[in-house]
Amino acid sequence: MGYYLILDIGGTKTTAAVFSEKGEPEGDCFLVVPSKTYEGCDAVFQNTVAAGREVLQKTGIDIKEIKGIGVAAPGPLDHESGVIINVPLMGWKDFPLGPELEKEFAVPVRLDNDGNLGALAEQRLGVAKGARSVVYMTVSTGCGGGIVLNGEVYRGFTGSAGELGHMSIDMNGIPCNCGSNGCLELYASGTAMNTRMRRDIDKGIRSLAFEDISYDKEHVSGKILGKAAEEGDGYALSFLREEGRYLGIGLANYFNLLDPEVFVLGGGITHLRKWFYDEMLRTIERCAVSPVSPDRIRFSELNDKVVVYGAYCLIKEFLKD
Ligand SMILES: [Zn+2]
Repeated sequence: MGYYLILDIGGTKTTAAVFSEKGEPEGDCFLVVPSKTYEGCDAVFQNTVAAGREVLQKTGIDIKEIKGIGVAAPGPLDHESGVIINVPLMGWKDFPLGPELEKEFAVPVRLDNDGNLGALAEQRLGVAKGARSVVYMTVSTGCGGGIVLNGEVYRGFTGSAGELGHMSIDMNGIPCNCGSNGCLELYASGTAMNTRMRRDIDKGIRSLAFEDISYDKEHVSGKILGKAAEEGDGYALSFLREEGRYLGIGLANYFNLLDPEVFVLGGGITHLRKWFYDEMLRTIERCAVSPVSPDRIRFSELNDKVVVYGAYCLIKEFLKD
């Protein structure tokens, strides 16, 4: 019997947990601390180590009982060597995060990015459990994702597969940081939705959604849309149908490319599914070359813990091999 230490290092917060062999979080404890982003390479690393030690203490598990550490880290990263290639937010450039954590805790460490781990968790334990091929996309601040083919995470030739958010849906569209135009995440992400709502406030559009925040552009969110849609507000309903079209175009592209058995949608957007789901399905039906039955499109139930569960699957399977 042993345990796994899990560290999920995000842009704003870091989550630490201890998982049992059965895949259960010890003491149901998910320790969440700020990531100390912008404080530099060493501060972020020490903060991560401290979170790991604190969760061990909180759960009463000795480091000697830990078989290995699973880490979710921002990319680009080298999954094999455990080196973070370049994350300016953390001050990490060619930073050997995996080896450094191994030195610190004296146990094996495996790491991967959020998107791959999300896909892995959904395929191993989540709503796509048992499906041979799975595409997972989280829609929140941006659109990230991962691909599982034949039961294994598909990382691509250089390790950069799964950039779902940067599939262009309009070559003449909004310019993206990646250098392309019209990337899906510039339309479908929560950030994109907020940008459109701010634009609409500027245009003088009236809606219950905006009344809720007194037309204060600082406070736009998916939540106000959901609330207004619930009350039958025309603007909110048509806004969310449009969101369904964007998602539908993206999903149709992924189905045309990979024909996954199951597509899992996660992230904050899933709370609004009631209002975009039908339009999303209609768009997929129109744009996908082969028919896609609705039961192949599922919504994550692991939600904000999906990456933590993925990191658990990663280290557990690595140690078993
Ligand atoms: Zn892009």
